[in-house]
Amino acid sequence: MEQTIKKNDRGEEVVDIQRRLIALGFDLGKSAADGVFGEQTETTVKAFQQKRGLTVGGAVGEETWEELVEASYQLGDRALYYRYPSLRGDDVRELQMSLNSLGFHTQDEAGVFEQETDQAVREFQRNVGLPPDGIAGEETIDALNSLKKAVSTGSRFAVPDKRYICNSGRGDRRSKIMLDPGHGLPEDPGAVGAFGLTEAEVCWRIALGCRRILEQRGVEVVFSREESETIPEGERSQRANREEVDLLLSIHLNSSRDMQAEGATCFYFSNGRWYSKAGKKAAHLIQDELIRGLALVDCRVHGMNYSILRKTRMTAVQVEPAFISNVKEERLLGSGSYIETISRAISQGVARFLEMEKQSII
Ligand SMILES: [Zn+2]
Repeated sequence: MEQTIKKNDRGEEVVDIQRRLIALGFDLGKSAADGVFGEQTETTVKAFQQKRGLTVGGAVGEETWEELVEASYQLGDRALYYRYPSLRGDDVRELQMSLNSLGFHTQDEAGVFEQETDQAVREFQRNVGLPPDGIAGEETIDALNSLKKAVSTGSRFAVPDKRYICNSGRGDRRSKIMLDPGHGLPEDPGAVGAFGLTEAEVCWRIALGCRRILEQRGVEVVFSREESETIPEGERSQRANREEVDLLLSIHLNSSRDMQAEGATCFYFSNGRWYSKAGKKAAHLIQDELIRGLALVDCRVHGMNYSILRKTRMTAVQVEPAFISNVKEERLLGSGSYIETISRAISQGVARFLEMEKQSII
């Protein structure tokens, strides 16, 4: 619309404006879309401008026209995606509100499809098993609506666990996990025991054991690092996100100045306000196997805001099956058969979690 349409104008453009106002729920009275910009139309344009935070003048200039166009889009009217110039409209705003309510953050709900919205759409698609193409078309919007419904039937204050939805929609696909052996020789040995055993080498051996056992059970296993590789913590979570695994299991050993400290612990993500339900469940399943199977001291399951737990998109658990600072436990960790027993217990917990996730329907 190049020129301003105002009171006493007539014609097709006036009809267009009137139709849009009616579609938005405004009442133009008897005259309706008659193509005459009269008193009633002017009053209605003013009401629209007021509602949308525009300068209230009663005439339709470029700004008001654009707002009329944007306001008339409803989610599902068109495919939404990231492009230049950015798509704008009430449908984009609705999409952003839905994504945010499910925990996929779009930065704002301004109704402009920017890069953050693109990322949130892709993340959502990955989580529900759709191709992550960033296009909010029919399938994606359907998935969004059905998930929103599932969430809204819960508590008004329920925070959806996006780590939980990660596992749905995979159907019969093989479960895939990432094992993250802590630290990495030669640069980062982790904690070192009194006899010189390093946390890095023990974690590596446990990871090898878990991989063998889990692969035998049909689970696809990838590692976060090579045997002799030191990678920053952030890179580990990035790799897990890239591999789109169902579960990330980080393996460490505990260490304490108190040489008597012993036992096993599992951690899941919690920041004090929110915690991962799926992570907590997985942590408990693994912890139970370690305590039952190995008769280890139960140092319990804890919610922690560790970076590897926070930055991963999927369910994530950090397991610390023993204290390398405890001489008795260090001796045990030096034996191949003990490593095998630990690996079996952890794998059993992991397998149970994956099995339960497959059966849960959202
Ligand atoms: Zn460590």
